[in-house]
Amino acid sequence: MPFRTTGKYDLVICDIDGCLSPESHAPINIAGLSRIAEHNRLAIQNRDRPVVTLCSGRPIGFVECLCRLIQNTQVPCIGENGVWLWRPTDNSFECDPAITDEHLETVHEARKLLRSLFHASGVIQQPGKSASVALYHPDTDYLRSIVPTIAEEFQKRNWPIRVLMTWLYINCDLQHVNKATAIDRLMTQTGFQRERTAGIGDTMGDRFIAERVSWFGCPANSEAEIKEAATYVSTHNEVEGVLDILDQLAH
Ligand SMILES: [Mg+2]
Repeated sequence: MPFRTTGKYDLVICDIDGCLSPESHAPINIAGLSRIAEHNRLAIQNRDRPVVTLCSGRPIGFVECLCRLIQNTQVPCIGENGVWLWRPTDNSFECDPAITDEHLETVHEARKLLRSLFHASGVIQQPGKSASVALYHPDTDYLRSIVPTIAEEFQKRNWPIRVLMTWLYINCDLQHVNKATAIDRLMTQTGFQRERTAGIGDTMGDRFIAERVSWFGCPANSEAEIKEAATYVSTHNEVEGVLDILDQLAH
């Protein structure tokens, strides 16, 4: 049976970095998160408000942990920009079936190339990714400066990999996999409907969430460009902004 509520929405698909936790390594606001957890507990118990699930570029293990912290026991969450679903109902992981051995081989080649080009300059490949590469460097301006070179090197080799800078990382993801393709899988498997689904995000990577939902909100700290895609922009930052957005959805 699909999860249905008595409210206008059944589901909220929420980005993590810049929404529920800072994109930096600053501590997570656990008081705010516990209010999200309380929201989810009531949503699942009373079916009177939408359940909040996660859709993030982070490694799926990080997403699974936050999903459990916010007490979402019902709805799959999405990690690695759409590569993985994790289902809290039975603890199962699903890699996008459209990712072939050949794609994995290309990602592996990309890892080797990026290591040979940038390891000496201190560029770190974020651990925990399995079908994509995320790059980090403490000097964000330096990191931003190497984006065109990376895109060019991939293009020269005809690798089907998208290169996108977030606030602090460079994400190299398979072109045919993104947050939207994972949301499609989630919807098909669970029976949630776009008209009864809302989304929350803070950067242009979240346009893939915005285009799959019927209502989209941004916390105050979001990029100007994604705010233009929003139905509502909160005056509060990060998790306080998400809590404010959940309030808006209740009315
Ligand atoms: Mg974000």
